[in-house]
Amino acid sequence: MKVTEHIQKAERTLFTIEILPPKKGENIDTLFSHVESLLDFAPSFIDVTYHREEYVYKEQTDGSFKKLVTRKRPGTVGICAAIQNRYNIDTVPHLICGGFSKEDTENMLIELDFLGIENILALRGDPVKSEPGFKPHPEGHCYASELIGQVNDMNNGVYLNSELQDAYPTHFCIGAAGYPEKHFESPNLDTDFDHLKAKVERGAEFIVTQMFFDNQAYFNFVKRCRENDIHVPIIPGLKPMATLKHLSLLPQFFHLDIPEALSREVAKCKDNKAVKEVGIEWCVQQCKELIEFGAPVLHFYTMSRSELVKRVAKEVF
Ligand code: FAD
Repeated sequence: MKVTEHIQKAERTLFTIEILPPKKGENIDTLFSHVESLLDFAPSFIDVTYHREEYVYKEQTDGSFKKLVTRKRPGTVGICAAIQNRYNIDTVPHLICGGFSKEDTENMLIELDFLGIENILALRGDPVKSEPGFKPHPEGHCYASELIGQVNDMNNGVYLNSELQDAYPTHFCIGAAGYPEKHFESPNLDTDFDHLKAKVERGAEFIVTQMFFDNQAYFNFVKRCRENDIHVPIIPGLKPMATLKHLSLLPQFFHLDIPEALSREVAKCKDNKAVKEVGIEWCVQQCKELIEFGAPVLHFYTMSRSELVKRVAKEVF
């Protein structure tokens, strides 16, 4: 079922999670056990992230370095199919621009359609780790809005080869990313909203936000979206803080603010066990407020670890 159908049919705020494919060389059992430990909360759908290639430099016997291309977390499509098959839960594979030509994207979408996957989250993708900024594939897309346009074209039976007659129209429900605290490359919030609006105009039917720790950021974001004629469901992304290091790592990687009250409490903690308790309490409070506000779904970034999300969900669902 499509994400939008789940939301339309729901009589209460839904519970969903995002998981990461295991690192290459690991099996899928640990991931399954984390998913299974959250099944009691009936996740309506499960997002699976996509991780593009990385470059590693291997020293050769003559002292020179050879550049090797590798993907550390392959398997997004396989995991989605496995979850749908094993648990009968809808999945939302993340589809990115980075590293994909338009032809690659088209072929990937055909594969997803054949597997019965009805949703995708369309993203530009992170830059390659060793590169300073995002570089598009020479025959691919620069921005998520263009990728969304391609998926929408296929939904209308328009493939890259314009000579295809009566091509089958796919039926993907398309999601896009939103940033309550602004995407870090955007010069200002207004410009970021213009780009978000372009994603909706080109076919995005729901928005999933970057994680945030201050609900006011989400409330303001929703208000501004509505004022800008963006009327699709806006799904808040949440993560319980778990370690002392998160105080600096989360702002560094995700370009977000940690509210002073939370950072003060975390800074007082003697160890990560204590941080987890603070993180859970904060997240539970966030969830309760978001439900009261009428958020359609609470979407948890599990980072493929279920313990903390389980503790939060127990208090909220
Ligand atoms: P876009 O919407 O393309 O925006 C990127 C930047 O370009 C923004 O600053 C925007 O304002 C600007 N922009 C957009 N259009 C234009 C234009 N026409 N002209 C000029 N500027 C423009 N990354 C992964 O690699 N794999 C994942 O699985 C993954 N999952 C994610 C899930 C969620 C919910 C979120 C919030 C992020 C995820 N990311 C993932 C990270 C994401 O790929 C990065 O944040 C990336 O930097 C931006 O992606 P986007 O789709 O928002 O890009």
